[in-house]
Amino acid sequence: MIETSSKIKAPTLVDPFGRTIDYLRLSVTDRCNLRCTYCMAEDMTFLPKQQILSLEELHDTAAAFVELGIRKIRLTGGEPLIRRNIVKLVSLLTALPGLDEVTMTTNGLLLPTMAQPLKEAGLSRLNISIDSLKSERFKQLTRVGNLEEVIAGINAATVAGFKKVKLNAVIMAGFNDDEVIDLAKFAVDQGLDISFIEEMPLGEIDSHQRVKTQITSSNLREKLASEFNLINSAETTGGPSRYLQVANSDSKIGFISPMSNNFCESCNRVRLTAEGRLLLCLGNEHSMDLRELLRSYPGDRNLLKSKITEALKTKPERHYFDPEQVDILRFMNMTGG
Ligand code: SAM
Ligand code: SF4
Repeated sequence: MIETSSKIKAPTLVDPFGRTIDYLRLSVTDRCNLRCTYCMAEDMTFLPKQQILSLEELHDTAAAFVELGIRKIRLTGGEPLIRRNIVKLVSLLTALPGLDEVTMTTNGLLLPTMAQPLKEAGLSRLNISIDSLKSERFKQLTRVGNLEEVIAGINAATVAGFKKVKLNAVIMAGFNDDEVIDLAKFAVDQGLDISFIEEMPLGEIDSHQRVKTQITSSNLREKLASEFNLINSAETTGGPSRYLQVANSDSKIGFISPMSNNFCESCNRVRLTAEGRLLLCLGNEHSMDLRELLRSYPGDRNLLKSKITEALKTKPERHYFDPEQVDILRFMNMTGG
């Protein structure tokens, strides 16, 4: 449904449950230079290049979404920084009239050379994933990663002067739950925010049994409260994190709790996979193929907009994740985090 009001100049996308959808997560590739155990299987088959949306198709789709009322786009993947011409895409998107901001989630490895160009292209905020501060463990969790490179990436992002740099850590019992306080201290020392994420059962993996590594945000909050004075914060960045302010610091600690504390009621987002499938919900398969449309009717913005509006009618009310089983076969790198 599209609504217009006298106060809001642009149309507003509203789903069947009355939620305004103004946030698009755009996956620009399913490939990655890491192989995080919770995100991917070790031996992955990636999409053939011709199935991935071109830069022009990404731009056209984003433009249609913005005309429909999307105000914020987060670039993700896979690893968005390995997508060729990503800086150019950022410039194209930030030039779209009506879009408030373009942000990105990255593993940070390529930021030492790319942070400054991304900032100059207009990217406003960065989320950087870092799940451990121990080199050996970081390598184990990412299968191939070098912790020093991520830290160099975080430093480069800080120097580049983004409006906000936030860290993200997926916490798994028995793997890195003993590092929650150290990760939070690391963020506080640098004046950064950090969000702790509950692991979701997306995709069949063989490195561990997800049901055994589940740990809830409230458990982590208790651990953190033993070390920090945490003050409730009403702040939201338009995403699913619920924040606490760390007293006497510039940092906030966020919790993303898709398993223990369903946040679907306030869902304001949809996702576009790298091959152009519009996903209405991370935890459901409801989707619409936009690539076929983009390639059969290139440049037909109105048709694209009407298909997006039609797809929105199928946005589910909520997700139901069960860590005992994998209902969603899609890996997180396909989905775009
Ligand atoms: N490669 C980039 C990165 O790692 O930041 C962006 C894509 S990644 C899929 C986006 C976010 O999803 C990361 O913060 C990652 O830790 C998180 N993630 C991946 N698989 C997950 C899972 N199964 N459950 C919860 N979070 C997951
Ligand atoms: Fe790559 Fe990000 Fe998935 Fe890790 S979480 S494998 S960095 S896409």
